[in-house]
Amino acid sequence: MLGLLSYRTFIRRVSSKVIGIDLGTTNSAVAYIRDSSNRKSATIIENTQGQRTTPSVVAYNKDGKAIIGMAAKRQAIMNPENTFFATKRLIGRLFKDTEIQNDLNTVPYKIIENHLNGEAYLETTFGEQKSPSQVGSEILVYLKRAAEEYLSEEVDKAVLTVPAYFNDSQRQATKEAGRIAGLKVLRVVNEPTAAALSFGLDAKNDGVVAVYDLGGGTFDISILDIDSGVFEVRSTSGDTHLGGEDFDTVVVDHIFNVFAEQHSITDISKLKNNREIMQRIREAAEKSKIALSHFKETSIDLPFLYDNKHLNMRLTEEKLDKITLHLINKTISPVKKALRDAEMDPEDVDEIIMVGGMTRMPKIRSVVSELFGKPVNTTVNPDETVALGAAIQGGILSGEIRNVLLLDVTPLTLGIETYGGVFSPLIPRNTTLPVKKTEVFSTGVDGQTGVDIRVYQGERSLVRDNILIGDFKFAGIPPMPKGAPKIHVTFDIDADGIINVSAAEQSSGQAKSITIIPKSGLSDTEIQKMVDDANANKERDDALRQRVELITKSDIMITDTEDSFKRFHDTISKHDSFPDVLAEIQKVRRQIDHFKAHDADESLDLNELKRSTDHVQQLALQLFRDVSSTVNRN
Ligand code: AMP
Repeated sequence: MLGLLSYRTFIRRVSSKVIGIDLGTTNSAVAYIRDSSNRKSATIIENTQGQRTTPSVVAYNKDGKAIIGMAAKRQAIMNPENTFFATKRLIGRLFKDTEIQNDLNTVPYKIIENHLNGEAYLETTFGEQKSPSQVGSEILVYLKRAAEEYLSEEVDKAVLTVPAYFNDSQRQATKEAGRIAGLKVLRVVNEPTAAALSFGLDAKNDGVVAVYDLGGGTFDISILDIDSGVFEVRSTSGDTHLGGEDFDTVVVDHIFNVFAEQHSITDISKLKNNREIMQRIREAAEKSKIALSHFKETSIDLPFLYDNKHLNMRLTEEKLDKITLHLINKTISPVKKALRDAEMDPEDVDEIIMVGGMTRMPKIRSVVSELFGKPVNTTVNPDETVALGAAIQGGILSGEIRNVLLLDVTPLTLGIETYGGVFSPLIPRNTTLPVKKTEVFSTGVDGQTGVDIRVYQGERSLVRDNILIGDFKFAGIPPMPKGAPKIHVTFDIDADGIINVSAAEQSSGQAKSITIIPKSGLSDTEIQKMVDDANANKERDDALRQRVELITKSDIMITDTEDSFKRFHDTISKHDSFPDVLAEIQKVRRQIDHFKAHDADESLDLNELKRSTDHVQQLALQLFRDVSSTVNRN
């Protein structure tokens, strides 16, 4: 009778398991290590709706409560400004970054600058600010609970994945999302490395592997050597702001242009600023892009898109390939760079694994095959393999999986600023982790008693072109002639790629160190408070979330019915029962509006709303059946 126990009752033990979570730009997934008949294998855990992946979408209602995953995605059209998707593109980034500035007008929600730390944050129409880490944590909590329900144990340890090309701030911000979700993040693994772990765990897959990972928001390429359980990353490269969302944006622009042409609209900026229109077109753009991975041609129909005008167009695979070719080509130079860094030629690569939803696009597969001169390997599931690899890394850490060694690399060069804004590298990119390295620096002025240690990440020779990831003042050096003090600066990077920098002056024994922390403005105490708040309000939050999801479901059903009525108005309005059904719909619409306005009021009876929604659906269905049988008879 387990099914009758409440969630809280049956979860008592804290699991020793370490779950693996792929927190993706578009979709996320969770996996664990299953032990069946003495064989350990990574397995995806379905979410509470039985889905193997969960859309990385979080919507907020006016009480600040979150709706997550498919429920959030489905209500996006009605609530575009408070529905946050693809927020991984913002995580750990400054508002003034060019990539963020470019995104401002392509998403229907508001991205703002957080005044404490200059980072890109999100703002709801209710005036609440959310950090991308907070939004990410909502998805992590959702997946953590799915795992807990599935395993019937409390889960508090996880391995998270990040794009290989994420810098320190982005990694830290992802770890922070884990902490807000109440998870101990034991390791942060690079996504392509995780994919290779899952691919290569089968001993038959030894050899040189290139992982080409193009997801919703990021592109990574990693080259690995797999040999009897030792996974050595030879190089990695990529672009943290290139993915399916950019393909969607190109298709969105194309659709706007066709619509403007079809209806002789000269100024489309007004349409583009309409968040509901933008959301409808974005969804249609993504749908058609996906359809064109399976068909040569698809149609896009959006009735009453603007000013009683309908959009009706066809899109071919050939056209899609043509308008997005520049984006596909943008992945080529990182691939070449990774090959160069690994000191390999394309023919040295034995297998090319395709990861991330975008790699289902036939044109991408053909461009990559051509580049390597051999067919790409499509045997791995591009949506699941990263989470499976994260679970394997979790299994290695918990001791469930033995005889596997992972040697990952740092994706970007690390160093400090020296005189004149010059970047002095200490640890070159693609150095195997963990790593520790010390270099000696000195003062530039006689009698100088302090120096600023400013730590940067990047490949450019002047610091202003790289990313400042942390700084500290090193004071207390005894006055000496310039060049005399010997300041030992040590960089220590752990297996997560998290950096610790320390400085010590030899003659005086002065020493100081910092762990580079994200500039998110959230202290450990604040994060702990958020975790405590979430735990304290869990039962109420769950109940409220269920209410909101039910109201949203009814709203979607009624909106779908209203849309069909509009579309087929000419035919169905002639039917005798039409006025009665319409009146019933309007009644339920009023009910929904009332429930939406009072969704926190627990005394309202949701069953009544459910009953009337079902009733209207039946009536509408019958009406359509009657109309179509009349039409067929005539
Ligand atoms: P991921 O971040 O790996 O979940 O990848 C999601 C991205 O892949 C989104 O931009 C999707 O639109 C895209 N995608 C998913 N399936 C397909 C498909 N069959 N063809 C083209 N793109 C796809």
